[in-house]
Amino acid sequence: MAANPNEQRESSEDLLSVLRSRFGHDRFLPLQEEIMRSVLAGKDALALMPTGGGKSLCYQLPALCQEGVTLVVSPLIALMKDQVDALQARGIAADCVNSMMGPAHNRRAQMAAYNGQLDILYVAPERVATPQFRDFLHALKLDLIAIDEAHCISEWGHDFRPDYRNLQALRDNFPNVPVIALTATATERVRADILAQLRMTGADRFVASFNRPNLTYRVRPKRRTLEALVALLRDLNGGSAIVYCFTRQNTESLAAELAARGFKALPYHAGLEDEERREAQERFLRDETPIIVATIAFGMGVDKPNVRLVAHYDLPKSIEGYFQETGRAGRDGKPSQCVLFFSYGDKMSQEYFIDRIEDDAERAHARDKLSRMVAYGEARSCRRAFLLDYFGEEWRDENCRACDVCLAASEQPEQDDAHTYDATEIAQKVLSAVIRTGERFGANHVVDVLRGSQARRVRQFRHDTLPVHGIAREFAKEELQDIVDQLIDKALLARDTASEYPTLYVTAAGRAFLKKRETLTLVASTPPQENEPREPDGVLFAKLRSLRYEIAMDLNVPPYVVFSDESLRQMAAYFPTESDALLRIKGVGAHKLEQFGDRFIAAIRAYAEEHGIESCNAVPAAEPPPSGKAAAYRGPLSQTHARTLDLARQGLGIDEIAARRGLALGTVIGHLERIVESGEVLELTHVLPPEPRYARIVEAFHAANSDYLLAPVKERLDDSFTYEELRLARLRLRQIQLEPN
Ligand code: ADP
Ligand code: ZN
Repeated sequence: MAANPNEQRESSEDLLSVLRSRFGHDRFLPLQEEIMRSVLAGKDALALMPTGGGKSLCYQLPALCQEGVTLVVSPLIALMKDQVDALQARGIAADCVNSMMGPAHNRRAQMAAYNGQLDILYVAPERVATPQFRDFLHALKLDLIAIDEAHCISEWGHDFRPDYRNLQALRDNFPNVPVIALTATATERVRADILAQLRMTGADRFVASFNRPNLTYRVRPKRRTLEALVALLRDLNGGSAIVYCFTRQNTESLAAELAARGFKALPYHAGLEDEERREAQERFLRDETPIIVATIAFGMGVDKPNVRLVAHYDLPKSIEGYFQETGRAGRDGKPSQCVLFFSYGDKMSQEYFIDRIEDDAERAHARDKLSRMVAYGEARSCRRAFLLDYFGEEWRDENCRACDVCLAASEQPEQDDAHTYDATEIAQKVLSAVIRTGERFGANHVVDVLRGSQARRVRQFRHDTLPVHGIAREFAKEELQDIVDQLIDKALLARDTASEYPTLYVTAAGRAFLKKRETLTLVASTPPQENEPREPDGVLFAKLRSLRYEIAMDLNVPPYVVFSDESLRQMAAYFPTESDALLRIKGVGAHKLEQFGDRFIAAIRAYAEEHGIESCNAVPAAEPPPSGKAAAYRGPLSQTHARTLDLARQGLGIDEIAARRGLALGTVIGHLERIVESGEVLELTHVLPPEPRYARIVEAFHAANSDYLLAPVKERLDDSFTYEELRLARLRLRQIQLEPN
C-alpha cells in the first residue's frame, strides 16, 4: 500500500490541535492517537474499543487531515443523520447517502462528494454493492474506508447483517484504499473473521481495554424483583436508569408499575410509533423522564453521560449484548451499577425461542451464546474477570472491588456468631438426599423430598419411599434452598448445568465431608416474611394470557374478569394440572374453576408435557379470601386509571368522565372495573342506572345465575337496557361481593 503523503506532515501537535480546535477535546482517549497514526500512514487497522471509547474520532479526525473523502459504512441508518448533523455543527463537511434521506438529498450529497466538497460521507452497507454507487466511488478520491460496527460482518457475532457481506466487494474494488474496521464487541473468533472477510490480515490491531472501572457488576436472583428494582431506583440521586426487559409487553407493564409507585418511567420498544419512541428518547436525554424501561431496541447511539443504573430484568441472550447494554452506564466516569436479575425460568423461556430457530447452525450458535450468559449468572468468581475474559482480555487483580462476588469476599470473613449455627447434621441430610435420588434432580425436587412432599413427581420416582423422605420436615422450603446454595458455595455440592435443567451432584469434597464426619458451620438465613413465590415461566404466562384474552372476547368481558394477571402468574409458576391444585391458585374459586378450569388445565398440561416440566400441584394455599368470596386483585393502578378514579371521586358521571378525558364510554367503564378490582374505595351510586332500572338488572343477574356473563342477563331484559348499564350494575355487584362482611 502506498505510503500516505500526509504521514510526515501530521506531527503530534498537529493532531492534537485539530482535536482541540475542531472537536473541542483536550486530549486523546486511550489508543485514539495510535489508531489515527496508523490510518494516516495508509495502513489497515482493526480497532476494538468499548462503547464510549471514542471510536468515531479515529476516522473523523484523519478525514480532516486528508484531501479526499472518507467513506463511512454504518448499519444504523436512523443514526446517520444525527451523526452528520453533529459533524456539520462543528463545521465539518459531512453528509450521508441512505434510503431514509430521499433521492434528491442523496443526489446532492453525492454531487458534493464528487466536487471535493465533503470530507466524510456516510453510507448504508446495502448501497455499496450497487454498480451505480461503485462507479460513483471510482470517480472520487477515496482516502479511507471506515467500517463501523464491523462485527456485523461475522456470523459468529451477535448481530450478523448479511448486507455487510457486500463490503468484501467494496474491498476488492478498492484494494489500495486503507480500511479501518471498528467495533465494541468482538471475541477472538469474530476478530479473526472480520480480518479474513475483509482481507485485511496485515492490519494493525488496536485493542483498548474493555474494563470499565467505574461500573459495578451484580447478579441478583430474580425474586421479589420489583421490590429490588424499586430499591435500586430510589438510589439514583438524580441520575437516570435503563431497565431492559425481554418483551415489549413487559416494558409496558413494568413502566406502568413503576409509574404507579411514583417513578417517572417510560417504555420503549420497536412496536411503538416512531413519534412515541422519539419522544421517550428525548425526554430521557433531557432528564425529564429519568427511567426508560426498554427492549434491546433502545440504546444504539444513546450517549447519555449520567446513566447510574443499567438493570436487566430478564436474562439477555448473549454476553456481547449484555456488555454493550451495560456499557451505557457511567459514561461520565462516575460510579454506576449494572444489575442482572437472573433465573432459570428465563433461561428456559429463551431456550423456548431458540428451539424454534430453524437453521441448525444458527440454533446451536444461539444456544452457545445463551449458555455463556447463564454461566455469567452462575459464576462464583469475579464478574469483571469473567466479562473481560470473554473478550479475550486478562484481568490480573485478585479482587476487583466492584462486583458482587469480590465485594462479598472482601467483607470481614469472621461471621457474627449470632448468625451462624452448627449445620453438620442438616448438611449430611441434604447431601444424602442428593445421592439417594441419584444426583439427577434439581434443588426443588431434593428439597421436596427432604420435606416429605407428596408431590406427584416425588411419588412418580418413588422418592417417598426413600429413607431420606421427610427427614428435614422442620425446615422451611426457603431455608433448605438457602442451605443448598451455601453448600454449593462451599463446593460440597455443585450444579450440573450441562443438562437442560440444572441438577445437583455431590462433589468429591462433599463425599469426603460425609465420610470423615467433619463439622460444618453455616450462616442462618433469616426466614422470609412471606412465602417466597416461585418464578413464573414467561412463555407459559404469555400463552395463558392469550387464552384468557380469547375467552374474554367470547364472553364480552374484560380479561381480568376471567383471571387476574396474578392468578396467571401463579399458574405459570406452579403448573397446576389437577383441579384441586388449580383451586389453590389465588383468585380461582369453584365458580371460575367450573367455567374455565378445563381450558387452563389443558393448556398448562400441554405446555408442561412439551417441555418436560414437572407440575407442582403442591401449590401453596392462597390466603383465604374474606368470607370465602373471590379475592380482589390488588395490583397497583396505572396513571390513567388513577385519573379516572379522581374524577369519579369528585362525583362526575361516566359521560362526564368520558368527555373530560376524551375516552370512549366503554373505556371509562373498563377503568372503573379495574378500580373496583383493585380494592380502591369508590362510591358508585352516581354512576349506576336509576334505581328501578338498576333493580331490574340485578334481578336479571340473579335469574340468570350469572356473576359476570352479560349475554344471559341481557336476554332476560328488554332492548332498552344497554350493555353499558349492565356493566355498571355488574360493577356494583362485584363491589358488594368484594366488601368484607
Ligand atoms: P463509541 O463509538 O466508541 O461508542 P463515540 O465515538 O460515540 O464512542 O464517542 C463517545 C463519546 O466520547 C462521545 O461523546 C465523544 O464526543 C467523546 N469523545 C471522543 N473522543 C474524545 C476525547 N478525545 N476526549 C473526550 N471525549 C471524547
Ligand atoms: Zn470482581
